[in-house]
Amino acid sequence: MPVDLLPDLRVAVARGQIEAYFQPMVDVSTRRIVAVEALARWKHPEHGLIAPNVFIPLAEEHGLIGEIGAFMIAEGCRCAAAWNGGSARVQVSVNVSAAQLTTSSLLDQITDNLRRLSVPDDVLVVEITESLPVVEIAEVNALLNEMRLLGVGVSVDDYGTGHSTAEQLAGLPTTEVKIDMSRVQAATPNDPFIRGVVTLAHARGITVVAEGVETEAQLDIVRGLGVDRAQGYLFGRPESESDISRLLKNTP
Ligand code: C2E
Ligand code: CA
Ligand code: CA
Repeated sequence: MPVDLLPDLRVAVARGQIEAYFQPMVDVSTRRIVAVEALARWKHPEHGLIAPNVFIPLAEEHGLIGEIGAFMIAEGCRCAAAWNGGSARVQVSVNVSAAQLTTSSLLDQITDNLRRLSVPDDVLVVEITESLPVVEIAEVNALLNEMRLLGVGVSVDDYGTGHSTAEQLAGLPTTEVKIDMSRVQAATPNDPFIRGVVTLAHARGITVVAEGVETEAQLDIVRGLGVDRAQGYLFGRPESESDISRLLKNTP
């Protein structure tokens, strides 16, 4: 990304150029959509769509992730409220950077949005990734426990890439683990890694999600290994709010 996009990123949120897209997660046995993950998109007026892999690290580096993160939480909660009227239940996961966990008013933001929008319990989930410095573990653990008391789920993302460890699963109040797509796409029917994650997770009541499922063969393998949920192009790409709303409405 050219360096001169940094000033643009500073005003991107204010100008409404950041948008939340949503990708479905399905129950592997019924293939019904049970959750969606909010994924940030930057619609730049001159450069077109810029991927989060490009602008999220830039935002983290230059102190802009707090504002983008707050926007994504607000959008996730707004859509969660809209999609969970009546008896419908679809969880909404929002990615949270380590910088948000350690520095910001994350708990206040989440509390405010949940109350203001009357989001039901157990609908919002936060996805966390990076391994945290040891000194911050206790602090983050306390924060995540507060979130659990608010009925917010805690998902450990990109599991199996080295960023997230078994200690994180065991030490944090985890409700979900997402196996990274590199592990899913290389999985064998007897995959010892995925089997191990499923055993550890299920012993603790943790839901297991396979990321990056693109083929029926991959779905069969992860289902056979005991994975609970799957996300990937086989079921749907990240879509705009209106497209996902339509998809959810047509889901039996
Ligand atoms: P992630 O959290 O691991 O999100 C999953 C990424 O995998 C998404 O890329 C999604 O589009 C892609 N994906 C899903 N299914 C498939 C598949 O079947 N095949 C392939 N090849 N790819 C698949 P995306 O949307 O480009 O996001 C990239 C990363 O940017 C995310 O990875 C996440 O780490 C970060 N990110 C996105 N939005 C946010 C946000 O609001 N806050 C933070 N902190 N990070 C975000
Ligand atoms: Ca994620
Ligand atoms: Ca992931």
